[in-house]
Amino acid sequence: MTIDIPPGIILVEDDDIDRMVVTRAFAKNNIKNPLHIARDGEEALEMLKGLNGKEKLDPLPKIMLLDINMPRMNGLELLREIRHDEELQTISVFMLTTSKDDQDRLEAYKNNVAGYIIKPVSFDKLVEAIAVLNTYWNLSVLPA
Ligand SMILES: [Mg+2]
Repeated sequence: MTIDIPPGIILVEDDDIDRMVVTRAFAKNNIKNPLHIARDGEEALEMLKGLNGKEKLDPLPKIMLLDINMPRMNGLELLREIRHDEELQTISVFMLTTSKDDQDRLEAYKNNVAGYIIKPVSFDKLVEAIAVLNTYWNLSVLPA
């Protein structure tokens, strides 16, 4: 039997502090999944498709934590790109955003997000939220 490598996760977030606290929340939960980080939708797409001199992630991450408000390409724009891409469309996408906008939420679910999480204000609450997500993606069997 081969040793299963936990599925890779890509965090797409433009805010330096938010990237840091999510990374810390992963560490706090002892999450061993490889964590890739992109600073906006465009960079994420470059990493997922190997564009503009970026090396394509191999294996591709199966889970994405996605901010909405970002420069260049925002989260909803990236989400639409992913859903129309044969190779990327099965990624489980969890929105992680400050946006409480009904339209953003509707648009996200129309594009089949696995969850829409409002960024918790405290670090402790974020650790809890990441723990729940970790439980969920360990429970749910992802496509090979
Ligand atoms: Mg942002």
